[in-house]
Amino acid sequence: MSDIFSGLEKLGFQNTKEIKLFEEEKKNKTKSVREKQQKMIKDILYDRKLICPVCGEDINIRSVKAGKAKLLSSDLDLRPKYDIITPYLYDVILCNCCGYAALSRFFSKITRTQASWIKNQISTAYKGRFYPEEYTFEMAIERYKLALLNSVVKKAKDSEKAYICLKLAWLYRSVSEEIMTNDNYDKQKLKENNDYERAFVEKAYVGFVSAYEKESFPVCGMNEITVTYLIGELSRRLGKNDESLRWISKVIISKNANDRLKNKARDVKDLIKNNNQN
Ligand SMILES: [Zn+2]
Repeated sequence: MSDIFSGLEKLGFQNTKEIKLFEEEKKNKTKSVREKQQKMIKDILYDRKLICPVCGEDINIRSVKAGKAKLLSSDLDLRPKYDIITPYLYDVILCNCCGYAALSRFFSKITRTQASWIKNQISTAYKGRFYPEEYTFEMAIERYKLALLNSVVKKAKDSEKAYICLKLAWLYRSVSEEIMTNDNYDKQKLKENNDYERAFVEKAYVGFVSAYEKESFPVCGMNEITVTYLIGELSRRLGKNDESLRWISKVIISKNANDRLKNKARDVKDLIKNNNQN
């Protein structure tokens, strides 16, 4: 093709033939930003070794170096948002030999009886798969669901199951946000995704209420007032506004809640009040 800038030589511009007007410059720029990000992500990820408590195999665990991800903000249900990497994508440890999967804080805490249940009900069916170095939200969802299935088989506490469900809700919300960044996004896919998010919010709510009644704190690294707050926010997301306000009020008047949690509790209360006015 002829040089679209031909004629500008007389204004002093030579060699204009190589200038590209649209797509390629943009693509290259996006590509170089992506390559830079990938290199940073590679520096943040590392592999550590662990022995699987179910089958005894040596397994490699993809992990995120502590303190490397920068927290930008958090949603009212405590979903954290980070800059270049999302550490909780790597929070499920999975043994590719036997299919045992659990959140890292629970992975080694398993009895012989529970291990035998996993062997009989998970390992016999499990077909391993290869995961790349960097996980996507979809891959994380798959791993969390496998951890959830394992938690049912090993008869885990309700708090453990609820925590996995909460994180699945966070993951589905993250996928929805990704879908909406496309101009011509698939509305059906978004709806399905939102339905999954709500289903897991509901399961997390049921599990945490049950844990609140039956278990002693802390659960999943959270103290009683944090779980109280979380149940309040999960109830709000499910449209149980009166119930939400009861839980949230406990947080606002609590002596054990820090300012960060109290501020979030006030935000939840304001959201309910404003919605009731509309
Ligand atoms: Zn194993």
